Amino acid sequence: MTEFRIGRGTDRHLFVEGRPLMLGGIKIPHHLGLKGHSDADAVLHALSDALLGALAMGDIGEHFSDTDPQNKDLDSTKILKYCLTLLRSEQWFIGNCDVIIHCQQPKIGPHRLALRESLAKLLNCAIDKVSVKAKTAEGLGPVGEGLCLDAEAIVLISK
Ligand code: MG
Repeated sequence: MTEFRIGRGTDRHLFVEGRPLMLGGIKIPHHLGLKGHSDADAVLHALSDALLGALAMGDIGEHFSDTDPQNKDLDSTKILKYCLTLLRSEQWFIGNCDVIIHCQQPKIGPHRLALRESLAKLLNCAIDKVSVKAKTAEGLGPVGEGLCLDAEAIVLISK
């Protein structure tokens, strides 16, 4: 009998000058990037936390300390790959994932396909299992004021 599990992850990073904007493993052209100890890829952090949630294996802060100098400017694809190794070691497979990016700027729509392609490649799954959606905050709150970017991810796994 097929067994299913679901996991959810969220993340928030502040916009700052002088850093590239990394989302879903790709660089998005923008005059601001995200502040963080790692490369601050909020999409990969939310997705990794969703996978760990489905596995009931804690959160990425437990596995990758944000005070460890070794994780400074860490390529977040390494975090996701680490979570996928845990997933596969327990014989789980990705069912699908749905990602939501909340930001006022930049517009995510023109990059949606590239984001889906990047995530499908990283997850080693078909692109039709990977959804990326984007929302502005109608100018309200820290997201709406352009202070930060929020990411949410939900993932279904099966075996
Ligand atoms: Mg993060």
